[in-house]
Amino acid sequence: MNLDTPLNALKWLPLQRQRQLERFGLGTVGALLTHFPKRYEDRNQFDRFPSGDTAEPVCVCGIVKKTSVRRIRGSQKMFDVVLEEEAAHALSPPLLCRWFNAHWVEKMIIHGQRLVVYGKPKPSGSGVVIAHPEFEVVEDDAEVSIHLKRIVPIHPATEGLSPRLLRALIWEVLERLCDDEVEPLLPATLDAMPRAWALRQIHFPESWARRDEARRHLVLCEFFAMQVSIAAKRAEQTAQPGAVHATGDALMRRLHAALPFPLTGAQLRSIAEIRADLAAPRPMNRLLHGDVGSGKTLVALSAMLLAVEAGFQAALMAPTQILAEQHYLTLRHLCEPLGLRIALRTAARTEQSGPLPLFESSKEIDDPHILVGTHALLYEGAGFSRLGLAVIDEQHKFGVMQRARLRDQGVAPDVLVMTATPIPRTLTMTLYGDLDVSTLDELPKNRGKIVTAARDAAKLPEAVKFLREHLAAGRQAYIVYPLIDETEKLEAKAAAGESKKWQELLAPMKCELLHGRIAPEEKDAIMERFRRGEAQALIATTVIEVGIDVPNANIMLIENAERFGLAQLHQLRGRIGRGEHKSYCILLRSAKAEGEALEKLRILEETSDGFKIAEADLQMRGPGDILGTAQSGLPPLKLGNPLADHELMRLARNAAFLLFERDPQLAAPENGRYRRVLADGRKLTLSQVS
Ligand code: ADP
Ligand code: MG
Repeated sequence: MNLDTPLNALKWLPLQRQRQLERFGLGTVGALLTHFPKRYEDRNQFDRFPSGDTAEPVCVCGIVKKTSVRRIRGSQKMFDVVLEEEAAHALSPPLLCRWFNAHWVEKMIIHGQRLVVYGKPKPSGSGVVIAHPEFEVVEDDAEVSIHLKRIVPIHPATEGLSPRLLRALIWEVLERLCDDEVEPLLPATLDAMPRAWALRQIHFPESWARRDEARRHLVLCEFFAMQVSIAAKRAEQTAQPGAVHATGDALMRRLHAALPFPLTGAQLRSIAEIRADLAAPRPMNRLLHGDVGSGKTLVALSAMLLAVEAGFQAALMAPTQILAEQHYLTLRHLCEPLGLRIALRTAARTEQSGPLPLFESSKEIDDPHILVGTHALLYEGAGFSRLGLAVIDEQHKFGVMQRARLRDQGVAPDVLVMTATPIPRTLTMTLYGDLDVSTLDELPKNRGKIVTAARDAAKLPEAVKFLREHLAAGRQAYIVYPLIDETEKLEAKAAAGESKKWQELLAPMKCELLHGRIAPEEKDAIMERFRRGEAQALIATTVIEVGIDVPNANIMLIENAERFGLAQLHQLRGRIGRGEHKSYCILLRSAKAEGEALEKLRILEETSDGFKIAEADLQMRGPGDILGTAQSGLPPLKLGNPLADHELMRLARNAAFLLFERDPQLAAPENGRYRRVLADGRKLTLSQVS
């Protein structure tokens, strides 16, 4: 018997059980043994019976003294079990366990049984009650070594497969498992612990220390399998033939020379990294990330110019229409003096800047040099004739699928993925593990300082006074209000209300209103008027999160700030601090805001370092939110947590990449086993992609 053995080959396992396990997704010995415990109970030493509520759940053992069922409110039923502590220290008052409408529990618990109970106690009347505890009837002394007097695993269970049953099954399987048949997965240099030992200890640990060692090994196995498939993909990409998409840099130099500022060191470094990729005859797969305002657009455009000069088309794809339009305007502004044709293709608009004389190659005359659009460009066969570089602006999302799509079209352009916010290193290793990374970790020098202050909404009059002073001195302001309802009617109403309110508060200053329901041409006109200083305040929803760039606007006031996400607030705040004036971001919070919402605002007051904020955001939201999505294309991790275990991820990644560096084909006999890891990992990892 080894890990691949299907459970239906186990003669001792009743057919009905096999079926149940299969339905639960556990079809092989390996699947069963990697069905890891969700928690453990130290049944060497139970907690004492609680005398009030406790911060943590308790795990206690007692004898059932009394059970009773009561009807409450019509057909509702309440089942009470009185549990007494066993003789040795029967000093505590009995504990009441209570279930509502739990028919199956009523049938399981009877007077005189010994019960292990886990849950959070609450004081009730004169005693203590645990509502709907997890519980287990401990009945058979022969099984004591599995279910009692040890650290006992509690596995995720399902109907008909209780934790107790799963525990017994896994015990049985481990009893029969031959350690020699469990191949090591990891290079010995990474971790030499036998995997079978780790599997035994994760389920039935001798001690907490053993459990931790076992977990470390198994997390490394999981991460290593993931990184091996990422490394394999990278090795494959590197081996693929691609075209040379950069030759000269005259266009790019002209662009840079026309800028009123020098590029930052980080921009120059990133451009050099990208240029080397473009010039190499293999496909580029690179991530460009950096803080808000770090100048990603210019880096992307520089790359596009290199491709254009080499005779190729470049495309820029944005996640939303408004962002695509914004990019289009920016690029047109920068590129038309260079004589390039830029086209915008979105669902709503198609626009081409007319053919310009400088780049006349007769047969390409209606062929844009640069195509800007939404991600839909990928699906509509946008009519690329010779796409050399695709820049994918993902904002907060992950374009794993999009990247795949691009390759599916038979073209293998160089790909630059751009994100609106910095990504913590922890995540670039996993989510973007198959990409090279360029980081803009430096803001342009001319950036003014931003002071951020969170204030109670009641302080609005003071904020208004502050605003008025600055507007009177010639500055401009953004006022952001949260979109409360997405429906068109209510949105318009909320916007109109906000607009009226602010117009009155700031009179005689001129306010303009901007929100998502305004037609694109009108939107452009409004932004243009604001840019020219014809309006002093722009009242807006988060549409201003993207692209707007008015250096003279140095104040941002955000109402109900606690409703926005941390990364989003940082992105919004990035609209100010773009000129030489000191900037102010006022976060108004409602009186009801508490807990995490306040913590969020505190972080923003404390730092404007996008990398720190991204990390904090990740900590607060947890990796599940980010990694758990199917669209991330990553395998569901069973044990490891890329955040908490990021050091292990780093180790696993280094080991996997070293392996492929030395033996890209895994041809050496001693590397044969990794081909299996790879095959297994492929099943899970990036399968939607390759
Ligand atoms: P982001 O990285 O947030 O996308 P952008 O590319 O939108 O940043 O750039 C923000 C603003 O900074 C733009 O107005 C851009 O022209 C300007 N900018 C870009 N690079 C520099 C630089 N090196 N020095 C000064 N301003 C710059
Ligand atoms: Mg940008």
